[in-house]
Amino acid sequence: MKDHRLINGKEVQQRLLTGLRAEVDALAATCPVGRLVSISIGPSPEVAVYVRGQARGAVAAGIPFDEQVWPADISQEEAKRRIVALNDSRDVAGIILQRPVPAHIHVRSLQSAIHPLKDVEGMNPASIGNIVYNDVALAPCTAAAAVELLRSTGLELKGLEVVMIGHSEIVGKPVAFLLMAEGATVTVCHHMTRNLAMHSRRADAVVVAVGKAHLIGADMIKPGAAVIDIGINQVTDADGKTRITGDVDTEAVKEVAGWITPVPGGVGPVTVAILMRNALAAHRRQMAAGWLDH
Ligand code: NAD
Repeated sequence: MKDHRLINGKEVQQRLLTGLRAEVDALAATCPVGRLVSISIGPSPEVAVYVRGQARGAVAAGIPFDEQVWPADISQEEAKRRIVALNDSRDVAGIILQRPVPAHIHVRSLQSAIHPLKDVEGMNPASIGNIVYNDVALAPCTAAAAVELLRSTGLELKGLEVVMIGHSEIVGKPVAFLLMAEGATVTVCHHMTRNLAMHSRRADAVVVAVGKAHLIGADMIKPGAAVIDIGINQVTDADGKTRITGDVDTEAVKEVAGWITPVPGGVGPVTVAILMRNALAAHRRQMAAGWLDH
């Protein structure tokens, strides 16, 4: 039987991608969306899984996907030079820099080299800065996905009491700013927070991005609250089998929460759809800036 407390990330993904497809198709005759370039530095099976998911999302949205694997020993200078060339290519709508990168590559410097109008992952410091000014069109994908899932519950975000657990640059902090832009009252907790449960128990919605399996138990959630689990952890069961789990004890929390996102199948699929939404937003911004004029 379908459990209505579990939010189906795949369904949210499909709804978003279907809407995007219509917009992308409508642009085809006048100003078609350029390609989305994925850069992996060196081969990595772990990265390849993400890239496959993104490629599928791009096909569904009707956006051309260009998967590039650059040599593992590419120099920082050459990688930067190639990124600048992509910035200057009119047929490139957006650039994704897959992580992790080899140790000799300075990832933040490369992220900063991606032009803000092509920064579909929302990782350039300029993009993060825009969020502070409530300009949220190119937000980091995972953070925007968490907000989209919270919105899918139908809860009014204005005035909502949200506790964000985790304060990283790419997830926790952007989630807090995106929700503030929606009018939510946000408390941010982290590893130095004194009594985590005291904060989480009074929240209408709890968003968790820590990276610790089973950090959040049923006694930490207010009955009826929404729980968005961003964590990805690999755990090994007693029988030696490994599986992926989030930061929330889903089975237990499901009994008290009003809504909860499963892991896998919650935030992950929606993140891919947001990446495509960002690609379209980037394309529209390039149009507005006159970059695509003939
Ligand atoms: P990070 O390591 O950069 O940050 C972890 C955060 O958790 C920090 O703010 C830290 O203060 C906080 N923290 C650590 N222990 C804590 C505790 N006991 N109580 C409260 N807070 C605590 O991690 P990140 O990059 O933000 O990623 C967090 C998790 O989200 C990871 O599991 C990661 O794999 C996952 N993630 C998922 C996606 C996705 O698409 N679903 C994307 C990015 C990250």
